[in-house]
Amino acid sequence: SKETLILLYGGRSAEREVSVLSAESVMRAVNYDKFKVKTYFISQAGDFIKTQEFTETPAENEKLMTNETVKTEQKVAPSDIYEKDAVVFPVLHGPMGEDGSIQGFLEILRLAYVGPNILSASATMDKLLAKHVFSAVDIPQVPYVAAYADENQAKIHAEVQEKLTFPVFVKPANMGSSVGISKVSSLEELEAGLAEAYKYDNRVVVEQGVVAREIECAVLGNGGEVRSTLPGEVVKDVDFYDYRSKYIDNKIEMAIPADIPNEIAEKIRDYAEKAYQAMNGAGLSRCDFFYDEKGNIYLNEVNAIPGFTQWSMYPLLWENMGLSYSELIEELVSLAQEAFKNRE
Ligand code: ADP
Ligand code: MG
Ligand code: MG
Repeated sequence: SKETLILLYGGRSAEREVSVLSAESVMRAVNYDKFKVKTYFISQAGDFIKTQEFTETPAENEKLMTNETVKTEQKVAPSDIYEKDAVVFPVLHGPMGEDGSIQGFLEILRLAYVGPNILSASATMDKLLAKHVFSAVDIPQVPYVAAYADENQAKIHAEVQEKLTFPVFVKPANMGSSVGISKVSSLEELEAGLAEAYKYDNRVVVEQGVVAREIECAVLGNGGEVRSTLPGEVVKDVDFYDYRSKYIDNKIEMAIPADIPNEIAEKIRDYAEKAYQAMNGAGLSRCDFFYDEKGNIYLNEVNAIPGFTQWSMYPLLWENMGLSYSELIEELVSLAQEAFKNRE
């Protein structure tokens, strides 16, 4: 009989649209000789709504139900997703998806799940905490100032002026997909940038802006057993890779593998694996770096549930290493089952 793969998508975070696209890609690429797929939409309010089931490859134009099409009478108690021996793929980004909360819930239900565990999800989701961990294992990062909404803001402004030079990037600690991030070019703009970021989190990072190429490395594995890919590059024709350019204008081109010297690629892979292990990585992560003209490499962030459409950087990096998108999904399911066995 077929194994059940449960897809959770949508979610409460500002990144819910990305989640739907990723889940649709997964639902189309699953090997239906092996799996059947059940899907649940998580609404913005946090309700779990049972949506479609698939036992064979869906038609190409088949969409997953979202806000507009969902039938609210199919709302279920979150724990109703339980099915013995099923594997859950929480294709969710940001808070209440990638931050350990869903992972904790799935562990309480005693379900196997794809991707980061509670620790790696919550630690990578918080950009400030992640910086402490990366620096503890000697991975280079750009200079930054930590800012808290309930702190004296004049003190933060002074610290930024002292430690950084404009432009700086202001980011909520707990977001992704560039939500709440702004590039701030002067002290006058700093207050507005901070206010925007505080809308999403009272923990905020003010980071030294760098002029650099954006190089990304995919990591796969559980705990100590980690594999990485040759890095890829996000080739920007915009100066800031914001939400709009990422998902709406499609202004992103990827170079896979990145055209960088071998020794730089090796260093990046080494840092990526080290960062992943330090975070107790499980399943997958995409580690994003800056590489500047002077040859400096800085780790920008680790995304524990990176964009996962068939055309996203993470799956394409593996494809370049010879692992197809459907094989990658199967590999992630096996890693989920392995992690589950170790927990039980
Ligand atoms: P997210 O988790 O939202 O992707 P990032 O930290 O990756 O957050 O920031 C989003 C984008 O903003 C990056 O891909 C990059 O284009 C730009 N950016 C962020 N920080 C810096 C920085 N310190 N210097 C230059 N560009 C930056
Ligand atoms: Mg991110
Ligand atoms: Mg990013």
